[in-house]
Amino acid sequence: MLGVVEVLPQHTGIAAQSDLARLSLKRSNGCIVRLISSKPKVCIIGGGFAGLNAAQQLKSGDYDVTVVDPEPYVEWLPNVHEIISGIKNGEELRLDRRRIVQRLGHRFEQTCATDLNAAAVTLANGKIVSFDACIVSTGGVANYFGVEGVSAHAIGMKSVDDCQRIAKKLRMGSLGHKTTRVAVVGGGIEGVEALGEALRAYRYKPQFEFYMVDNHQKVLSGCAGNLDSQVKSHVRNFSVDFQLGSRVSEVHKEGITLDNGKVVHSDVTIWSGGVAPSSLLYNAQLADGPDQWGEVNYAFQSRHYDNVFVVGDAAKTPKPLSKQAFHAIDMGRFAGQNVARYLSGRRLKKFEASFKPQVVTFGDMDTFMVFDGFSVSSSVLGAAKEAVYTLGLLQLSPPDNPKDFMRSVDLLQKSLRKVYIPAVNPLNLVSKLPKAKFFRR
Ligand SMILES: Cc1cc2nc3c(=O)[nH]c(=O)nc-3n(C[C@H](O)[C@H](O)[C@H](O)COP(=O)(O)OP(=O)(O)OC[C@H]3O[C@@H](n4cnc5c(N)ncnc54)[C@H](O)[C@@H]3O)c2cc1C
Repeated sequence: MLGVVEVLPQHTGIAAQSDLARLSLKRSNGCIVRLISSKPKVCIIGGGFAGLNAAQQLKSGDYDVTVVDPEPYVEWLPNVHEIISGIKNGEELRLDRRRIVQRLGHRFEQTCATDLNAAAVTLANGKIVSFDACIVSTGGVANYFGVEGVSAHAIGMKSVDDCQRIAKKLRMGSLGHKTTRVAVVGGGIEGVEALGEALRAYRYKPQFEFYMVDNHQKVLSGCAGNLDSQVKSHVRNFSVDFQLGSRVSEVHKEGITLDNGKVVHSDVTIWSGGVAPSSLLYNAQLADGPDQWGEVNYAFQSRHYDNVFVVGDAAKTPKPLSKQAFHAIDMGRFAGQNVARYLSGRRLKKFEASFKPQVVTFGDMDTFMVFDGFSVSSSVLGAAKEAVYTLGLLQLSPPDNPKDFMRSVDLLQKSLRKVYIPAVNPLNLVSKLPKAKFFRR
C-alpha cells in the first residue's frame, strides 16, 4: 500500500537498510521519486503454528501483513492420530484459517507461494506480494525417502483428511470377518501414536492384525528411557508384530517389501516416516539443497537475505531443535517480535529455546512424558496432552461471539467425556496410578 510520495534531489543517500526495504525508487525528470509505504509490509508464508503465532505479534495498526497458505484450515496436528480410533472426528481439530487471520486485521491469500526474492513473494495465483520483511514458516511435507509406491499405496499422517481416510478403512475392516492387516511404517512418536489409536479401537476385534515396521532396532528410539519394552509389554496379548531393523524398499498393493527381502502383507499401510522440507526453500535459495532446511542465525534471519526470517519446522537453527509444535509456536512469536525490531532499525534478539517435555500417547494403554534424559509413563498423563490441545485452540482463536463460545464449550465437554474423565476418574486412578513408571536413558 503506497501512502506518501516524496520527490528528492538525485544525490540523496539512503542510510538504514530497513529504510531501503521500505522504499520504492523511481527516476523521473532527473529526480528520485520516493514512494513510502504507509505501513511496513510483512508477508508470512505458511499459516501454521509458527506463522500464525508470528502474525499475532504484528499489530494490524502498525504493519500491513499478508498471510499465505493454500489450506483453508489450521489443523491441530499433535492430536490428529486420535481420529483413527474415533476419539476425535477431525472437525474439532480444525480452525478456519481465513477467519483467524482476518480477526487479527491481516490479509489472507489462500494459495501457495512458489518463489521469493529479497523484495517480493510470487504466488501460484499469479499475484506478487511485495514485502519489507518476510517470515517463511512452511513446515514440512511427508518424507517418502524415495521409496517407491508410498504415495500410491500408503496413507500419510500429515492431516485430518489423511487420518479420516485411515479411520474409514479400519471401520470398513471391522464390519466384515475377513482379516484386516494394518501396517504402520515408522516407529517414532507419530507412528507409535497411530498404532496406539488403531489398537484402542480394534485390538479386541479378532479379524485385525497389526504390524509396526522401522529401520531402527527399537521403537521410540529417539526418546530417552527404554520405551520400546514398555510399548511391547502392553501389546503382548494382542496380534501385534514388530518388524524392526530393516528399511522399507517398496510399498505395493499387497503390502511392504523390506530390504532384507521379507514381505509384510498389509491391507492398510500407514506411512509415518517423518518430514522433508517444502520445495519453496530450495526454489527461493533459502536452503542449499532440495533436501535441506532453511539455514538461519540465532535471530532466525536467513543466511541469504537479511529481511527474510525462517521459523518452525522449516528452519535449520544453529543449535538443532526437534521439529515440534511447541518449538514452532515459540519461534513464530519470537520471529514476529524480531521482524518488528528489524523494521524499526533496532537490534535483533537471539532466540534461546525453552525445553518442554513431549507427551506421547499410546492409545488408552499408556502415555509417556519424555524429558531430556528420562521419561515418565502413566495413562493419566493423557489428560495433559488434551489440556494442551484445548488451551492451544483457545489461544489461536479465542471465542468472540456466542456461536464460537458454544463451540468451545462443546469441545471442552467432549474432551471431558472422552479423555479427561476416563484418564483421571478416581476408579481409573486406582488401577492406573500404581503403573506410573520412571525410565532413565
Ligand atoms: C501426526 C503428527 C503428530 C504430531 N504430534 C506432535 C506432538 O504431539 N507434539 C508436538 O509438539 N508436535 C507434534 N507434531 C509436530 C508439529 O505438528 C509440527 O512441529 C508443527 O506443526 C510445525 O509447525 P510449523 O508452523 O513449522 O509448520 P506447520 O504447522 O506444518 O504449518 C506449515 C504451513 O505452511 C503451509 N505451506 C507449506 N508450503 C507452503 C507454500 N509454499 N506456500 C504457502 N504455504 C505453505 C502449509 O499448508 C501449513 O499450513 C506432530 C506432527 C504430525 C504430522
